[in-house]
Amino acid sequence: MKILHISAECFPIAKVGGLADVVGALPKYQKDLGATSSVVMPYYNNTFTQNNTFETLHDHYISLGHEYYHFKVLKLTNHQLGFDLFCIDIPDLLYTEFVYSNADTKRFLAFQIATLDWILTLKATPDIIHVHDHHAGLIPFMMSCSFKYASLKNIPTVLTIHNAQYQGWFSHALANLIPPFNYEKTGLLDWDGSINSLAAAIKCAWSVTTVSPTYLEELKIKANGLEALLQHESKKCTGILNGIDWNVWNPETDERLLKNFSKTTVISGKKANKKWLCKEFNLDIKKPLFAFIGRLVGEKGADLFSDIFEQALTENKISILLLGSGHAATEVELAAIPKENFNTFIGYDEKLAHIMYAGADFLLMPSRVEPCGLNQMYSLRYGTVPIVNATGGLKDTIIDIDEKAGFGIVHDGVTVEKVTTAIHKATNYYHAKAFKKNLKRIMAIDHSWNNSAAAYVHLYKSLKH
Ligand code: ADP
Repeated sequence: MKILHISAECFPIAKVGGLADVVGALPKYQKDLGATSSVVMPYYNNTFTQNNTFETLHDHYISLGHEYYHFKVLKLTNHQLGFDLFCIDIPDLLYTEFVYSNADTKRFLAFQIATLDWILTLKATPDIIHVHDHHAGLIPFMMSCSFKYASLKNIPTVLTIHNAQYQGWFSHALANLIPPFNYEKTGLLDWDGSINSLAAAIKCAWSVTTVSPTYLEELKIKANGLEALLQHESKKCTGILNGIDWNVWNPETDERLLKNFSKTTVISGKKANKKWLCKEFNLDIKKPLFAFIGRLVGEKGADLFSDIFEQALTENKISILLLGSGHAATEVELAAIPKENFNTFIGYDEKLAHIMYAGADFLLMPSRVEPCGLNQMYSLRYGTVPIVNATGGLKDTIIDIDEKAGFGIVHDGVTVEKVTTAIHKATNYYHAKAFKKNLKRIMAIDHSWNNSAAAYVHLYKSLKH
């Protein structure tokens, strides 16, 4: 079975968040299950594309309304990823240093059209086309309604929703950018008066998955306007929990760490990494270290961070280290917190993230929305106790220490009070006997892709005629 994943992000080529990690890992694990998966993504101007060589497989023009754009399909020549990577090179639109911008309607429409134009030329077409989020969301519509893609109509399509907040809206006045289609089908593109790429994908894909079972249930109640649609289409929707790349995220071999460790050496291994962090960020190694890694946006609870941190630092003898970037107002608020037992790295740093998962004692995730969340799984793998709000995938993966077989700290809702209470509980737990024993236990929890990759393959098989 040949699967083609279509996505705006893929680790390690271009990553903004969890979408990249999933698209960069899932194909490898599907391969182990006998499915040949490959990935198509835009060709951005970044370190990966500059440092690797690509061969040109296809060279042509696409039309976007009345405009023509030159595009190439490039294939990565080395085999480092464990799957084939195809990049759509449209120099005028996609070859940028950033992944997302304010001109994304045109950029991602061009990406999707070029991808389908290329698929039309293939002798062996994929058995399944798997699109990720709204950036590839018009593909199922175009395959079923655009005249030029009629020959692709019978290829089953799967949409995975990683984040339903962003939906790829644009005006019906731009409908002429989509390759000509039967205008009676315009309703499939529409949601609430505008073209909505994610809604079109939910309507037209043969099957829809969300990245955790709880997220699917939540979306039926709160989905940035798409609730009724998800309820209506619920029969073709499944929640499949993401996994993590067990080889990339392995504290025994992770080259980014100061010291590697296993379940048996977790205490000394974590200490060495914590020592480096404390030295680098001027923190006290004797105090429990709470970390946050991620985007500074409302979904992650970031607007409350300065209040939470100031109160938690006053009430407890702890240190807090934050790695992330996002809303300018939040960055300013964080900069105003005195650098006593507190520090930040504002920016993106993959190596530092790994060291923080390894060296911190607790990982904070007071997310209001968390479709799956990968950080809590990385944190478990590296023996760091996650403190999470009971939402989405966090609810599906973390059990509170007060519950039977519990191993993390779970709060119900995101307020300064609730999060600081959870931090206080964690501080007490840090000094309890059970704490060190728990680290070995959490490291043994299996969140590798094995189960989830098999669930996807099972789903693909159910769609084949
Ligand atoms: P989301 O996709 O909503 O941002 P996820 O938990 O699904 O959240 O994935 C976040 C991924 O991005 C994790 O691999 C996390 O370590 C990484 N990450 C987020 N922000 C940063 C940052 N500033 N530096 C390094 N890694 C980051």
